[in-house]
Amino acid sequence: MNAVSTAIPTVQTTCPYCGVGCGVLASPEGAGSAQIAGDRDHPANFGRLCSKGSALGETVSLDGRLLHPMLRTRSGSYERVTWDTALDRVTDGFQTILNSRGPDALAFYLSGQLLTEDYYVANKLMKGFLGSPHVDTNSRLCMASSVAGHKRAFGGDVVPGSYRDLDTADLIVLVGSNTSWCHPVLFQRMLANRAERGAKLIVIDPRRTSTAEEADLFLPIAPGMDTVLFAHLLREIVARRAMAQDYVDAHTLGLSEALSAAKSIAPDLKTVAQRTGIPAKDIEAFCDLWISTEKTVTAWSQGVNQSAQGTDKVDAIINCHLATGRIGTQGLGPLSLTGQPNAMGGREVGGLANMLAAHMGYAPNDIDRVRRFWNAPRMAGREGLKAVQMFDAIEQGQIGALWVMATNPAVSLPRADQALAALGKLDLFVVSEVLASNDTLNAGAHVLLPAAAWGEKDGTVTNSERRISRQRAFLPWPGEARPDWWIVAEVGKRLGFSDAFDYPNAAAIFREHAALSGFENDGARGFDIGGLKDLTDRAYEKLQPVQWPVRDPKGTADKSLFADGAFIHGDGKARFIATQEPSLAVATDAAYPLMLNTGRVRDQWHTMTRTGKSPRLAMHLPEPFLSLHPQDAAEHGIEDGGLTKVTSRHGFATLRARVDDGQARGTAFAPIHWSAETSSGGRVGALVQPATDPFSGQPELKATPIRVEPIHMARQGFLIARESQDLPRDWWWSKVALSGGGGWLLASNRPLSDEAAWFDQHFADCEIADFVDTPHERYRAAAFRDGRLVGALFLEPGEGLAGFDAVKSLLAAETLEASQRRLALCGRDASGAADAGPLVCACFGVAASKIRDAITSGAATDVAAIGALLKAGTNCGSCVPELRRIVANQHKALA
Ligand code: SF4
Repeated sequence: MNAVSTAIPTVQTTCPYCGVGCGVLASPEGAGSAQIAGDRDHPANFGRLCSKGSALGETVSLDGRLLHPMLRTRSGSYERVTWDTALDRVTDGFQTILNSRGPDALAFYLSGQLLTEDYYVANKLMKGFLGSPHVDTNSRLCMASSVAGHKRAFGGDVVPGSYRDLDTADLIVLVGSNTSWCHPVLFQRMLANRAERGAKLIVIDPRRTSTAEEADLFLPIAPGMDTVLFAHLLREIVARRAMAQDYVDAHTLGLSEALSAAKSIAPDLKTVAQRTGIPAKDIEAFCDLWISTEKTVTAWSQGVNQSAQGTDKVDAIINCHLATGRIGTQGLGPLSLTGQPNAMGGREVGGLANMLAAHMGYAPNDIDRVRRFWNAPRMAGREGLKAVQMFDAIEQGQIGALWVMATNPAVSLPRADQALAALGKLDLFVVSEVLASNDTLNAGAHVLLPAAAWGEKDGTVTNSERRISRQRAFLPWPGEARPDWWIVAEVGKRLGFSDAFDYPNAAAIFREHAALSGFENDGARGFDIGGLKDLTDRAYEKLQPVQWPVRDPKGTADKSLFADGAFIHGDGKARFIATQEPSLAVATDAAYPLMLNTGRVRDQWHTMTRTGKSPRLAMHLPEPFLSLHPQDAAEHGIEDGGLTKVTSRHGFATLRARVDDGQARGTAFAPIHWSAETSSGGRVGALVQPATDPFSGQPELKATPIRVEPIHMARQGFLIARESQDLPRDWWWSKVALSGGGGWLLASNRPLSDEAAWFDQHFADCEIADFVDTPHERYRAAAFRDGRLVGALFLEPGEGLAGFDAVKSLLAAETLEASQRRLALCGRDASGAADAGPLVCACFGVAASKIRDAITSGAATDVAAIGALLKAGTNCGSCVPELRRIVANQHKALA
């Protein structure tokens, strides 16, 4: 069934990470790796890839993969079973719970990592054949507020613009978006526009991120106050008579209500400055530039969406574009930047609890239309439970059967410890996964189903600009892994719905999905790709990136929507939205005085199940951390580089402190990526409070009150090993990928004798060389087997990573000379050089120390010269802001 031929040298596919949706050229190399290059013909990236995309070839190995169906035994261990046995178990389990408790006891939790075809089949099975509306997705955590905002304003979940708007805008405003790290290739397009055309860049964010450091104007807004700023802008647009009156009259409704709400939220400049924390002169500069620049794109991502008032924030932005008529024309408009590679595809199929299918909701006509199209026996009749509510219902015993596909909710949901515990209450817990171990399936899944991974599966994804691209397989299915759509369809057939789920391939599913989008669609639904419903298998195989709508198979040119001012609401008019008074769901107090913001870092993706396999991506920010303003750190006794216990009302984490003057006073930031698989204390989801937006159900992941306290550890250091190790429970650790094995960055309070005993026991079959320096509290040990280094442990007081680079390089060597064996204990490389330190440029492996040396020696004194000398910053450009900072700091230090 898998159509891949390994004879195909290069396959045109799509990056599986962020919503930019870059085109990738992949060539399998064997031995678990692939050559990766950007696709110059793909209109999202024109050949560029960021650090994550460039490292994709390092992530396709079979290490840690789930390769066979498994059932949990009574003892809690897993036994391998056949596909028939596993699928029968899933089918019987769902059928039994359906019969005994009804469809409301069944739920699917899906993912923006799934392909559209996977999503479509899962949504169809649950909503049309099992009759439950409880299908939600991790996209609820990502962009649900944009969906709700678009629907309120336009009548449908439609992103009107395109990436090319970013090439031709004269002003780009980024709201709550660290684009340089989270959508790096798009950020490079923005910077190219600035360099070539002189476009201006405004960044609105509570943190001075690396994106903010590139801005012409940075507005450090107080958390949650975006609506105040855009309410003020709306008021100013009207007050300065900058409104497009004819456009407003002809194409919109509701301005006076929205304006009166805006006046109440933002009565005058002084109040706006107080509430947003932005200096009044900068607010005026923002309004001046925004109002006077016709070609303005306002783009946003999680800082807007992940909020208990995210939908209002989205609509406060759209209000300003409607008031000026700046929508539907190239070079301007509101633009939601989607987080995940196929969050948009999930929205298209209806894989959210408050949607039914193909941009249809639960109106009686929609239910009837979808029922007829699917010939469905048991239609869901109302909206289902959204992610946070779904896990609450599981905890309360209302849901008995849950199937989780391609996501890790035990790490990513708010109040993650509670979500983890809830999973233990399920009567049937099914997980389709690529990996054999993650926090979610380790919570006691009854059935594990091996899913095909990126590079092995075929289908489509849709990026932030409505562009559908093919993901193509270039690797065979390993073991017994199968595509998610196949797994779900097999269960559908076993439930007695053979006709409805008898898909020969992904192309057949896509045709049905396209046909449903156009079915009885007279323009009332923005999503319409009915023009693709008759694609042959061959045409599907060759499908080139195309933006929807595609009503006519020939009409596939790029397009801005709403150019004619015709919106999707029944009367064709857009709606201004009267936004509510903004406030954070939970305020800080004396017990929890700091406000925690969570988000992504440059070189990792979600819970690191794929990026965590790449050694070079591991070296930018290798540990879970908490950024704090210098004064907050000092007030709480936290030192830069020390360990910090972080506590909220819902849980705790232990993170490495990073003192950062880009962090606003009273706030903190922690990345979301670390799990129990990759760290001992880095699950920040455990801290996060569960308040959600009333319209979108999106949780407020960016504002949880916390307290911090320092933790003293006697020694720090690292363990490296060829094989996985059971670590002592009282070590603090963070796991990093290494060539030839794994590494753990450590902190410990145990006596040196315990560390030595642990090492001796774990490497008992090896030749061990060690060095104990009791007066200085230092311990170093190396274990050799068959002439190779198989493990090393270095611990000492202080930060303790000295020697890591040198020793890890020995791990990759197949045989060691006597001189190299000595190096394994002295922690210097063959040239005697000390560690290079953390990577700045992941694309070319350039460390901060090399950059500083180049500046100090005068070999390169600015970013361009560093690029020429070391290549740093010359590929994806994600590290350019960091390079700029290093250059400035090093010149300051030298002066
Ligand atoms: Fe992938 Fe990076 Fe492109 Fe996002 S910007 S799609 S992560 S290569």
